[in-house]
Amino acid sequence: MKKEEECIFCNIVAKKVDSAIVFENEEMMAFKDIRAKAPVHLLLVPKKHVVDLNAMTEADEGLLGRMMLQLSTIAKEHGIAESGYKVVNNIGNDGGQIIHHFHFHLLGGAPVQSVV
Ligand code: 5GP
Ligand code: ZN
Repeated sequence: MKKEEECIFCNIVAKKVDSAIVFENEEMMAFKDIRAKAPVHLLLVPKKHVVDLNAMTEADEGLLGRMMLQLSTIAKEHGIAESGYKVVNNIGNDGGQIIHHFHFHLLGGAPVQSVV
């Protein structure tokens, strides 16, 4: 089986697996984290399968920039831009990455714990 077919986020993007989608365009999708760790806990993913930040290339500069800006738009739409929020990108084992499809966590709605 191809990697993408086994990937839960690819299956969410393909709508073969249900999720609570809050934003979608041609290149990215945002949906609610199934185990929310904050009142607002969303995941923003590129629609194409990219494992992690290490696998991004110069060709992805635009995509990454647009994803960062989309996070602030989504935060505004969810009413947490003013109160504040945290954006997290986990990479690899030590980074605590469990799903190996690049994603940003967007957490807010209450103070969010951090290691830094
Ligand atoms: P990571 O540790 O890889 O950065 O975080 C992966 C996140 O994906 C976790 O917060 C986890 O709760 C979430 N997650 C895992 N499987 C699913 C799923 O099937 N649907 C949704 N909506 N979120 C998921
Ligand atoms: Zn994937």
